[in-house]
Amino acid sequence: MAKTFLPYAYLRWAFLSFQDANISIATHALHYGTAAFWGIRVTVTDEWNALFFRLDDHAKRLSRSAHYLGYEIAPEFIRSRLIEFVEMNKPTTSIYIRPLVYTSDLDISPRLHEIEKDFLIYGIELGDYLSADGVSATISSWVRQSDASFPLRAKISGGYITSALAKSEAVERWFDEALMMNSAGKLSEWSGMNVFLVRDGTIITPGVTEDILEGITRSSVISIARHLGYEVIERSVDKSELFIADEVFLTGTAARITPVKKIEQYILPADRPVFSALKSYMNTIFSREATPFSYWIEEVKF
Ligand code: PMP
Repeated sequence: MAKTFLPYAYLRWAFLSFQDANISIATHALHYGTAAFWGIRVTVTDEWNALFFRLDDHAKRLSRSAHYLGYEIAPEFIRSRLIEFVEMNKPTTSIYIRPLVYTSDLDISPRLHEIEKDFLIYGIELGDYLSADGVSATISSWVRQSDASFPLRAKISGGYITSALAKSEAVERWFDEALMMNSAGKLSEWSGMNVFLVRDGTIITPGVTEDILEGITRSSVISIARHLGYEVIERSVDKSELFIADEVFLTGTAARITPVKKIEQYILPADRPVFSALKSYMNTIFSREATPFSYWIEEVKF
């Protein structure tokens, strides 16, 4: 699929053209997955202002992810570089920014100590990641990794092998997306999104100890739902609950909030009052109407 990359990237402590932002084939992280990334969407308004969603939280989470790799990089530093990135690139359409911290040494021993690290940023133009109408889902034969093996609260690059296996398996079975169970047999999340169910008007989502990534969109949706008066329960979810749910939806930065139409052979109801209320409230926040969550949007003028 053709991608439009933004003209400037950041690598080895400097901005340079995307074409010149290259690394060696011997780069340690390429071989061991010893990197951590995050994804941030920026929307562009008619007045050519860029709107970041929860920029501070994204910067904080990337800083924490770097910490797991033994790399201290301050959230303020990340935040400033992300703003400069947008100012330099002057996007004209919705974009997705990908910052990455990685072991940049050309060394062959898998380790995190005494090894050079770097921080890079690049961006692509990105519209809908999944169909806004809804997706079909299979339950993957691949089990979500356990936090006992590596820190699942970070987006550690090496961990995405499981997401890739699950996503490709789903597509090969003619589904759009894959739901993964955790090693205890409870629902965890999708290949790159968090999962929510609605049962009898109550919103349910796997808790943060169910081997999920603590998604920023997940926490935003929980806050909005509670603000709208819904009960939200974070708990273990059984597979069988998926087949009798009134609604199932997914959340993520790239995918935003997307409904699920079908799980395996079970067709979910087409009427989705809770999903619709949440989606429309998210749109209200992005349209910059005053809400208690207006502070989540940060505007950069260029
Ligand atoms: N789970 C996984 C495995 C992810 O990679 C992501 C991000 N793409 C999410 C959940 C959603 O997180 P966020 O809402 O912060 O994008």
